[in-house]
Amino acid sequence: MNVPIQPTNPPESQEPSTPAGRRTGTSCALVFVGVLVILVVLLGAMIAVTAHKIPRFFSKAKSLAVCQMHLQDSNSESDIAGALARYAKWNHKYPDKLTDLYPTFLNSKSLLHCPADPRPENVVSYEYMKPDINAPGDTVVVVCRHHVMMPDQPPWVLKLLKNGSVVREMPNPADSRSKK
Ligand SMILES: [Zn+2]
Repeated sequence: MNVPIQPTNPPESQEPSTPAGRRTGTSCALVFVGVLVILVVLLGAMIAVTAHKIPRFFSKAKSLAVCQMHLQDSNSESDIAGALARYAKWNHKYPDKLTDLYPTFLNSKSLLHCPADPRPENVVSYEYMKPDINAPGDTVVVVCRHHVMMPDQPPWVLKLLKNGSVVREMPNPADSRSKK
């Protein structure tokens, strides 16, 4: 007896899946490439907008670092802190003005000019407050206010203390907002 063979539907898994699978894979890749292109374009636009600001910030940061080395550089004999200390040791008082340090105690007058100061290089950039020989170590002696790191913000301030250390003061963004 012949059992009629029931026409069976081929199971779903045996459906020729390759073309559909390929289609899905291809559209996934297309979406991925599309997203990638959009990201690259956005990134390019962001770089184009900010690129001119980045080197400017780095050159300002470099000026700040060089200025700090003018004030205090423990690896060098040519810094203002060392020159002031040597002057005070020899004269038992501090100089009346920073230019008195040159040439005996400071080997280059250019160290009295901050790289961020736009004025001519022979101009002394630093504010000097002559301390008493017995003043406390944390007395502020030399100040630089030439470092505007961000537009529309007050400058960063470098302060050289009598004990030879340098204090870097950043502006408080809240202060600059409240001043506007
Ligand atoms: Zn400076």
